[in-house]
Amino acid sequence: MAPARRRAAVGGLTIRVVPDSRRVGIFGGTFDPIHCGHLDIGDAAVRALGLQRLYIMTAHVPPHRPQPCASAFHRFAMVSIAVGGRDGWRASDLELRTAAPSYTSATLKTFHARGYRPHDLFFVLGADAFADVETWRDYPAILRDAHFAVVSRPAFPVDMLPGRLPSLTGRMVKPQSAAPPRVIPVAAHSMDPSIILIDAETMDVSSTGIRERCKAGVSIAGLVPAGVQQHIAQHGLYTCAPTARGGPGRRASDASEASETGRLHGQD
Ligand code: ATP
Repeated sequence: MAPARRRAAVGGLTIRVVPDSRRVGIFGGTFDPIHCGHLDIGDAAVRALGLQRLYIMTAHVPPHRPQPCASAFHRFAMVSIAVGGRDGWRASDLELRTAAPSYTSATLKTFHARGYRPHDLFFVLGADAFADVETWRDYPAILRDAHFAVVSRPAFPVDMLPGRLPSLTGRMVKPQSAAPPRVIPVAAHSMDPSIILIDAETMDVSSTGIRERCKAGVSIAGLVPAGVQQHIAQHGLYTCAPTARGGPGRRASDASEASETGRLHGQD
C-alpha cells in the first residue's frame, strides 16, 4: 500500500505533504485485451522493485488514430477485472478521462503535479516497447521524469537493449539480487532516475494473438484471467472485428504502424 497522503496548512495554503519514500509503478498499455503476459510483467516489477502500488493505465486512443478493437469502456472493464484481488494494484482511468492523446510524458507530468517526484515513479514496460523509446515524444527529457522499469518479453531479452540503445547504456542498471533493493541503484555520477533492466519469465502471449484466437473460435483459456475470458465471451468481443494490428506474435518493433495505435509515446 502507498503511504497515506497528508495535507498541511502553510501560510494559509494547503499543501500536500509527500512521504519521504514510496515506490509507485505505472504500467500503460492498450490492453486490447489485458492478458497473462501483462500480469506477469506487473508481478515482475512489483517483486523486483518492491512497488507499493501499481497503476494499470489503459491508454486513450484518439479518434484520428486506428482504433483498438474493443472500446475504451470494455478495455478498462477487463483491466478492472484482471487487477481484482491483487494487493496494491489499481485500474487507472486517468488517460481515459481526457480527450488528449495518451502521451507518457503528459501522464508522468500529471503524477508530478500530484506531488510525486520522478524518483518515486517507475514506468513499467516491456523490452520491445522500450527499444523504440528514442521515437517517443519528449525523448530524452522523459527519461528524467521517472525510473523506467524495463522487463524482458519472450524473444526480447533485456540484455539486447544496450546494443540497441548504445547512447543509454550508461543509464541502465540491473538489480543484482531477487529481493527489492533498499535503495534504487542509479548510474554512476548521475542524479537522474534509472533505466532498470529486469529479467523475468513472462508468458509468450500478445493481445493480437488473443484477438486472432477469438476470431478463429480458438480457446483463450489460460492466456487471460478467467474473468477476462468470461467478459470477452459474454460480450462477444473480438469475434468479427478485423485485427488491424498484424498477426499473432507481432511485436511493437516489427511494424511502423504499431506506433500509430494504442498508447502514444511518440509523435503527433
Ligand atoms: P498488441 O498485440 O495488441 O500490440 P500487446 O500484447 O503487445 O498488444 P500492449 O497493451 O500493447 O500489449 O502492451 C503493453 C505493454 O506490455 C508493453 O510495454 C509491452 O511490451 C508489454 N507486454 C505485452 N505483452 C507482454 C509479454 N507477454 N511479456 C512481457 N511484456 C509484455
